[in-house]
Amino acid sequence: IKNFLTQRTIVRTIASTPCSYSKMAPKTVFITGANRGIGLGIVRELLKNSEIETIIAGARSVENAVELQSLAKSDAARLHTIQFDASNDESIANSVKQVDQLVGARGLNLLINNAGVNLPYKTDDVPNRETILKCIDVNAVGALLTSQHFLPLLQRAASLSGDDQLSASRAAIINIGSDCSSQTLNITGFCNNTLVAYKMSKVAMLSFARSLVADFETLKVPVLVTTIHPGWVLTDMGGPDADITVEESASKIVNSIDRLNSTHHGGLFDRQLGVMPF
Ligand code: NDP
Repeated sequence: IKNFLTQRTIVRTIASTPCSYSKMAPKTVFITGANRGIGLGIVRELLKNSEIETIIAGARSVENAVELQSLAKSDAARLHTIQFDASNDESIANSVKQVDQLVGARGLNLLINNAGVNLPYKTDDVPNRETILKCIDVNAVGALLTSQHFLPLLQRAASLSGDDQLSASRAAIINIGSDCSSQTLNITGFCNNTLVAYKMSKVAMLSFARSLVADFETLKVPVLVTTIHPGWVLTDMGGPDADITVEESASKIVNSIDRLNSTHHGGLFDRQLGVMPF
């Protein structure tokens, strides 16, 4: 990552004063896995904020993303859909080009790594490397590579900001993590053992976020990075017994976006920015 970062030119100094409270919205947002579930819910909530100028929604199959397409038709000036597959390097690279064209000189203020899979896997299953790696590939490696690829666009936005504090209105990466990102909770045996691969992937996702933060601080890259647990949500992944609706989760997450500041850099939080243990 260090080599990757040093090859990029636009690097500005992060102010040493911590903790400003930001209330401005990002102007440009790219979210992955936006065709259903929490991702689609977040797109709906983002559209309610008229300060956001451009929302780009990534979907593995744009043609089949019926609800997303219909939303995009209803606000064609602000909502754009592009093909995005977190497990495919070419797709990630193409998505950067498309987002670049859509945001132009403004750069990208906010990347939301939401795309994810939960492939059930137990410690007493027949050993299956492919299943574990698939989960880690999409949830952790995909989010990491996406963040790396989008960094120049995020830095462009950060360099244009009149503000010298960390915020999502300047430049930020939000990873949609999980309570399974928390080693502390995992070690208590929380959830059942069917989530072994998923837990590994979400811990890895948080680990990469913390590595990014450490490198960003060293290299003075003013991009905020944080990980948010959306709650147990009624989606295809969350299942029918989950606690809360997509709207409840997505509205709280979007409400939290404008409040992100340096105190959230590198941390793990619930959807209302309550601190969660690593
Ligand atoms: P869903 O299963 O409802 O939706 C998952 C989304 O991710 C879909 O849009 C799906 O696209 C997309 N996706 C899957 N694989 C890829 C890939 N390789 N590339 C790009 N997109 C992909 O899940 P949720 O909405 O519930 O979950 C969203 C995020 O929230 C995930 O990161 C998940 O881990 C996290 N989360 C969810 C919880 C819950 O209770 N629901 C709890 C904690 C965390 P497609 O339609 O093409 O498959």
